[in-house]
Amino acid sequence: MKTLWRGLTLACGVCGRRGLFTTWGMFAMVEDCPNCGLHFERMEGHSLGAVAVNTVVSSALVLTVVSLALVVFGTDVSTSFLLLIAAPIGLIFPILFDPVSRTLWNALELLMRPAQPDELNQQFQNNK
Ligand SMILES: [Zn+2]
Repeated sequence: MKTLWRGLTLACGVCGRRGLFTTWGMFAMVEDCPNCGLHFERMEGHSLGAVAVNTVVSSALVLTVVSLALVVFGTDVSTSFLLLIAAPIGLIFPILFDPVSRTLWNALELLMRPAQPDELNQQFQNNK
């Protein structure tokens, strides 16, 4: 649970360290956790999981918004009206959600495959 919460709040899943993104836009994530030393790209293609998380969450959000619009405005609304509501969300949300999808995917992956001692730096392990 703690690991998932860290993932949702842009923190390192292992140690909870924040500040993992180097610019204000948060799109540039550091390669290794400055505290525990975990290399976030834990294996080749690791970040594809973050893309999958982002796709699933974004699609669910668009689907929810369109469904709500149909409930609120009825099924007689035009397709272009629905598109007008859904398209900006579908375009903007995935960009804003990108950082969260990365740390969240990292947390999910840590739950499935916990960090091994050789993935973390010595200093962090001694202080644990
Ligand atoms: Zn860490």
